[in-house]
Amino acid sequence: MSENTIATVLAPQRAGIPLPTPSVLSQPFWEGCALGELRYQRCTACGRAEFDPNRLCRGCGSDALDWQVSAGRGTVYSYTEVVRPQTPAFTSPYVVLIVELDEGYHMVSNLIGCPASDVRIGLPVQVSFHEVDDGVVLPYFAPEDQRQ
Ligand SMILES: [Zn+2]
Repeated sequence: MSENTIATVLAPQRAGIPLPTPSVLSQPFWEGCALGELRYQRCTACGRAEFDPNRLCRGCGSDALDWQVSAGRGTVYSYTEVVRPQTPAFTSPYVVLIVELDEGYHMVSNLIGCPASDVRIGLPVQVSFHEVDDGVVLPYFAPEDQRQ
């Protein structure tokens, strides 16, 4: 990278990218995104928090799963920078994150609000919702001091 290179600040993807297809199980999550709520399931039997919607708790097998609203704060657990996207619809580079939420679960998302070179394990991040297409809202994460 030359010294004249200006690092691009990562931004939400534009319309045209593949969109989520909510299932009966994931519908509450996507409805939450449209309302600006990051929802997840918590087992009322054992307390386990889980991102991937399910009918039974992966910890104890109970069906006592409640939808809850996350504060949307966490830290970067892992990440990768994508420079060659799977389809040309994606603007690259972009950074795929595994975020460890304060409520004790992990989810995959994308980083925005800073250059890709700023990402590191343990970076504090905050959810940031962006409408990508008519009524379809995606959760991104930005560094906590650069919320958008
Ligand atoms: Zn459980």
